[in-house]
Amino acid sequence: MTYSRRSFLKASTLGIGAASLVRPEAVFGARRNVFTPLRRNVGIFTERGGTVGWLINNDGVAVIDSQFADTAPMIVTGIRERTRLPIDVLINTHQHPDHTGGNAVMRPSVGKIVAHERAIANLRNAAAQRQGGPGDMSGLPDTPFSTSWSVSIGDETIRLRHYGPAHTGGDAAIFFERANIVHLGDLLNNRGWPNLDAPAGGSVHGWVSVLETIMQEYPTDALYIFGHNEAGYPPTGTRTDLAFQRDYFLAVIEVAATAIREGRSREQAISLTTLAGFEHFGGQAPRLPLVVGVAYDELQARRR
Ligand SMILES: [Zn+2]
Repeated sequence: MTYSRRSFLKASTLGIGAASLVRPEAVFGARRNVFTPLRRNVGIFTERGGTVGWLINNDGVAVIDSQFADTAPMIVTGIRERTRLPIDVLINTHQHPDHTGGNAVMRPSVGKIVAHERAIANLRNAAAQRQGGPGDMSGLPDTPFSTSWSVSIGDETIRLRHYGPAHTGGDAAIFFERANIVHLGDLLNNRGWPNLDAPAGGSVHGWVSVLETIMQEYPTDALYIFGHNEAGYPPTGTRTDLAFQRDYFLAVIEVAATAIREGRSREQAISLTTLAGFEHFGGQAPRLPLVVGVAYDELQARRR
């Protein structure tokens, strides 16, 4: 997929302008156990863990991510209050426990559980290690996909795409076609230091191209659902927010490239506590050196 220089520059400009549009007084991060409709039968559920997406229409139900074992019952109860129809499908955006920890709890209530094949493999390994044996596999997704997967529920079509390594090696973007809403899972953490799971196949360079592909591929007026958001920033947004996080990763890569060019070690390269232009990021600051370290490793690997 091509990404023209012109649209790249345009997106960059939008990204820089984004910070000034934010209204810090709105504390979205504190919303707990809340179902929020967005548009055209699609909405979000926020509690603890990754933002859950849902579709409830006259023909069926889909849920995106299951949070934790103790919050998943709130998801099921909330759906039950809104419809008597069964949940056709639970889709996992990726493997992390704040997005899949409720899978086993929701298992009896859902028709199938879909995830990227790499996410399922990682989940299977994690379960095996945790149990010291075959372990409890009841929460494992039963329907893997590699590049794309789709399902129609009533008049809505849900399209899953895997764009390559980014947050993990098994991330899915989930597009509600008629609603024009894309659930990104942890491909986007709204103004929080993004986590990157390199052992699970994540990549900084990959993440940049995945965000650029997504900005190209979906309609310019698409609404995006984010896996996480810092207090003061909403769990949903636009491509401007994607461009902002893409610019962050480009700045991280520049830090690592400069360190290598100037002959500094990996240890020296990751000895930073903030990054110009992104000082307002919230959450876990140690994720900055973590991501710089991954960028350093990727650049070194390219030189070999
Ligand atoms: Zn994650």
